[in-house]
Amino acid sequence: KENEMVKALREAKKNQSGRNIFDSIVEKQIKVDVLYEDDHCMAFKDVNPQAPTHFLVIPKTRIQMLEQATDEHESILGKLLLTAKRLANERLPNGYRVVINNGPEGCQSVYYLHVHVIGGRQLTWPPG
Ligand code: C5P
Repeated sequence: KENEMVKALREAKKNQSGRNIFDSIVEKQIKVDVLYEDDHCMAFKDVNPQAPTHFLVIPKTRIQMLEQATDEHESILGKLLLTAKRLANERLPNGYRVVINNGPEGCQSVYYLHVHVIGGRQLTWPPG
């Protein structure tokens, strides 16, 4: 069990640097179900939805994780949340959850900053 955890942490660390799948999505090398796109961000449906509605909002310029965001990212961080809100507002009138997973213990698996928007069923608290 502990070995598995060490392995998972090592894997997560390795994945923190370099290009990944979301770079390819932004560059249109991989087709996804796009909900919204402008010069700064894009939103698309999560391939493995955790609720009836589950989409991601990502910046077009890579930030690996929230932890790496600095003052220079202030406007894009605001843009991501406002975009999440606007798209959620159109689809999820009864409420929704906005999540950013950060780092191994935060359960981040793709090291390209993304905002999850999840809804369409009664969510529970606390999350796992
Ligand atoms: O926050 P975390 O890094 O764990 O989330 C990554 C998310 O990206 C997952 O919900 C996963 O289903 C999604 N994903 C996706 N398309 C891919 C790869 C991952 O929507 N090609």
